[in-house]
Amino acid sequence: MRLSPRHPRYASLRVRGQLARAHASGLVVPEGLIAHGRGEAFDYFLGERTTPSARAAERVAAEWLLAAEHPVVSVNGNVAAIASGEVARLVRAIPHLEVEVNLFHRTGTRARQVASALRAGGVAHVIGVRATARIPGLPSDRARVDRRGIYVADVCLVPLEDGDRAEALRDLGKRVISVDLNPLSRTSQSADLPIVDEVRRALREIARAAERRKRSAAPFAFVPFDRYAALGDALATIDRGLTRAAARRRRPPRRPRAGRRPAPGTPGRSRRTP
Ligand code: ATP
Ligand code: MG
Repeated sequence: MRLSPRHPRYASLRVRGQLARAHASGLVVPEGLIAHGRGEAFDYFLGERTTPSARAAERVAAEWLLAAEHPVVSVNGNVAAIASGEVARLVRAIPHLEVEVNLFHRTGTRARQVASALRAGGVAHVIGVRATARIPGLPSDRARVDRRGIYVADVCLVPLEDGDRAEALRDLGKRVISVDLNPLSRTSQSADLPIVDEVRRALREIARAAERRKRSAAPFAFVPFDRYAALGDALATIDRGLTRAAARRRRPPRRPRAGRRPAPGTPGRSRRTP
């Protein structure tokens, strides 16, 4: 289907098309499509833009990744399908950032597909295609990681991560930076630095912030971050948006403009019923 860029939901429909194609090729699993739908719903509630609070979190994320000795970004099928170019940009801004394939539903073929999608997006070095270590406390395949990557990382950037895994990484003493549009997910709730933003916007903004930060001579540091305040801000944004939308629905119907009176007997349109 050809999409017109003038369609009001062009950007969202384009990403859906990318994911549908990635699903047909096996890169994205059906569960990934469902996860995307959940993310989209929260993005809608958040106004489909980076909030000032998320931008501040992205600045701190850039600082932590620059301060880290061994930072790793974990990439799954959805991230590879829609944000490989953004991962590449992030690595250009933070060259010691390791990129690791990390799959909830792991097969050798899918791991290779994620790596090649990343390479096509411009990421030169990808690890984790073959898992060589396990995260303790997690069942089966979900525990499998690369000995050179997440296993030894001090800071893990986990976009669209599962809650169990985010918690397990935190239990290992790693600093976890999540990117997840749902402020109520276990991932957001357990991360040290939850970024409540769309993954492509978030990665771009972290890269931009890192590039800006590198121009200053001050040493990089693990500056404190109030994760409760960040999650509260996201919920307050959703709350304000919904309250405003509800108020608009409750406004009395506008009076018809002069000269455009409905013909007598024409039923009036109620604004309360769609
Ligand atoms: P959790 O396991 O953390 O409780 P979950 O089970 O609801 O979360 P998962 O499928 O494990 O969801 O994780 C996917 C998460 O990614 C969801 O919370 C969803 O909101 C989020 N998400 C999906 N697409 C995007 C996107 N493009 N950008 C940011 N977040 C997204
Ligand atoms: Mg989950």
